[in-house]
Amino acid sequence: MKHALFGIAAISVAVASCAPASKLPQVDQARAEAERSKQYELVILDHVSAWKRLHNTAYPILRKNADFCGERVGKSYSFKMISAGHFGDGLEEHALSSGITKRPYVIALPEESSAAKAGVREQDVLVAIDDWRIPEDDYHRELSRQLEEQSQDNSSLAMTFLRDGEELQIDVPLDRICDFSLVLQRKELINAFADGKRLIFTTGIMNLLRDDDELAAVIGHEMAHNTMGHIDKKMGNAAIGLVFDLFFAGIGVNTQGAFSNAAGAAYSQDFEAEADYVGLYYMYHAGYNIDDAPTVWRRMSLGNPASIQESISSSHPSSPERFVALEDTIQEIRRKVKNGEPIVPNEGYEFSTGQPEQKPDTDNAGS
Ligand SMILES: [Zn+2]
Repeated sequence: MKHALFGIAAISVAVASCAPASKLPQVDQARAEAERSKQYELVILDHVSAWKRLHNTAYPILRKNADFCGERVGKSYSFKMISAGHFGDGLEEHALSSGITKRPYVIALPEESSAAKAGVREQDVLVAIDDWRIPEDDYHRELSRQLEEQSQDNSSLAMTFLRDGEELQIDVPLDRICDFSLVLQRKELINAFADGKRLIFTTGIMNLLRDDDELAAVIGHEMAHNTMGHIDKKMGNAAIGLVFDLFFAGIGVNTQGAFSNAAGAAYSQDFEAEADYVGLYYMYHAGYNIDDAPTVWRRMSLGNPASIQESISSSHPSSPERFVALEDTIQEIRRKVKNGEPIVPNEGYEFSTGQPEQKPDTDNAGS
């Protein structure tokens, strides 16, 4: 008897632990379905606004530094387009109901760009280039071909847009820019990297960076990896990977296994320091407030206190070293502006990172 009572008590405890005790509201499936559409729409609009921020912030950096890009200099019609098909099968219908069209739709148009001055507006829909009319579907490959071919031979593109139900033709002048494509990855991971041809950013890092000056600091850094040929140099010297990760150290991922020895890591630290240094010049030329750049490293250290620690075996300089080096670089640029000197990076820069026994020398940066 006693045994049986114990059994009943045990069952009632088990039931209570796997079912809620409260009387819950019945979910109205029709309303949930409407909310589902709303949430898809929010994802689409958030993606569009992240692209808009990335493109509009990066464009002045790509354009105002064209003289420093060597062979990578190219021509651009300057705006960013997106189409409903970009979102894939599952989201295309929601993109269409959010106002994104099947044909390319202008989502970002940098203020100072030649296209903006020529009269292009956000939300214009591209319907023709020269006499090639863009079909509703399966046009992406031909569109890339047309844009590339026509840009090669001309200084402007004859584009026809649909705006408020009417077509208008605009001769869009091409800007001279550093020809690196931007990539936006929809990931929480806080990261940005460069691979020689592209500049890649996650939505995670964009959310971490509070304003466009901070984002510009990271864009400048990544572009410097490409323009300074770090990928090729790194491959040639150590063959330790194609991709530079700006924030490997900052997010607590152990990168030590990726490097064969401390010398390789120290070398990599020098590339990181050079990307910070040269990138700040790019940021300056694009008209951003360089005083905000060091703050990025305080923000990174809040995300991961491990990046504060000095470590010769790390692939990246510590965040305090990066902060101080950027402060010195700001002083260097300000001094050049004041003295009327050319605002270009010093050649033969002596890196202080990778040699922890030597403290950074503020005078070194300016010499
Ligand atoms: Zn880097």
